[in-house]
Amino acid sequence: MPAMKKIVDLRAYVLAGGEQGADYHARAGEHWITSTVIATPMSKYPAYRPTRKAFGIDVLGTVLVEVEAEDGTIGFSVTTGGVPAAYLVEKHFRRFVVGQPVHNLEVMFDQMFNASLFYGRKGLPLNAISGVDCAIWDLLGRLRQEPVWAMIGGKMRDHQPVYATGPRPDLAEKMGFLGGKVPLPYGPAHGDAGLRKNIALARKWREACGEDFFLAFDCWMALTPAYALQLIDALKPLGFRWIEECLPPDDYDGYRRLVEQRTHPIWITTGEHEYSRWGFETLLSTGIDVVQPDVNWCGGLTEILKIKAMASAKRRLVVPHGSSVYSYHFSIASDATPFSEFLMMSPRADSIVPMFTPLFTNEPVPEDGYITLNDNPGFGVEMNPELSWERPFPAVCV
Ligand SMILES: [Mg+2]
Repeated sequence: MPAMKKIVDLRAYVLAGGEQGADYHARAGEHWITSTVIATPMSKYPAYRPTRKAFGIDVLGTVLVEVEAEDGTIGFSVTTGGVPAAYLVEKHFRRFVVGQPVHNLEVMFDQMFNASLFYGRKGLPLNAISGVDCAIWDLLGRLRQEPVWAMIGGKMRDHQPVYATGPRPDLAEKMGFLGGKVPLPYGPAHGDAGLRKNIALARKWREACGEDFFLAFDCWMALTPAYALQLIDALKPLGFRWIEECLPPDDYDGYRRLVEQRTHPIWITTGEHEYSRWGFETLLSTGIDVVQPDVNWCGGLTEILKIKAMASAKRRLVVPHGSSVYSYHFSIASDATPFSEFLMMSPRADSIVPMFTPLFTNEPVPEDGYITLNDNPGFGVEMNPELSWERPFPAVCV
């Protein structure tokens, strides 16, 4: 039996300025993610209505977590979190990781989660835990010379179908994607005129795309139950597949109401801003059709495997939010994930750009609507050597 390697170091870095990759909201120049009108919970404030950049959607940036084994092998992961996540990784979570055997993923997650309960449970602390967890999975794969998808049970399918998120589902259809999910431009703050414009947009995309091409709206927490039900009803003749994240994440009763009162079987989906098995247990209890944890945010791969088991037992789908290779490795090995998301990162959503550009040198991209994973160890990607990282809180002792 090969010797079990121990972890000897854990480091967190941030990337200065520019395109942030894992924090895909941090985009330079004109970009559909930051420059177009998208309904948000901040739309009720006129000053913060025009774009999401106005209220700071790009404020966090990327954090890179590196974990090193005693033989010098390094695994890494990236997530949204920037300087505050780097602080938590170095000042708090490091003590639960350094000195552990690399394979002790369960105990490391359990200690990080429980030690941060007094300020954590959801949001940024879980992003940081996810970064550490995925870095350890990457390290374990590199030590075993196995891809992560093989370590979690092997491929359920040879190629993973993906749909495209972006403002041009018509172009996504031409590129071979399974479907197109469009950001909803208007919410309750834009009144009845906004609702009519949303419906007109839905009609436009249905007419522009084939009848079998699935379409969805992403509502980014912006709606009320009453508004969402009006929109759902209007989408009935247009055959939309789902309506995503209509309500703020804490409105579990609202999601229950949408499931009960929808006038046709459009899927109710959400979960990119939900965290941990406990959050998803509550979310699944609402009866929604699809949960959408982000592998880099929800608690990491260790946690999404538990979320998937719960969803699978209830015959619900798990379609991870964003998360690039971390999603692809999970998805291709998941019985509950027949397809996954691809975020269109080109500024006008008119070409295929790797989701975490510019972080990796060899990030897989969809071809004809499918992601294919090779046998590279860990999550299978290498960092772009041209980027410059700084370590804001270098640890001096464990
Ligand atoms: Mg979404």
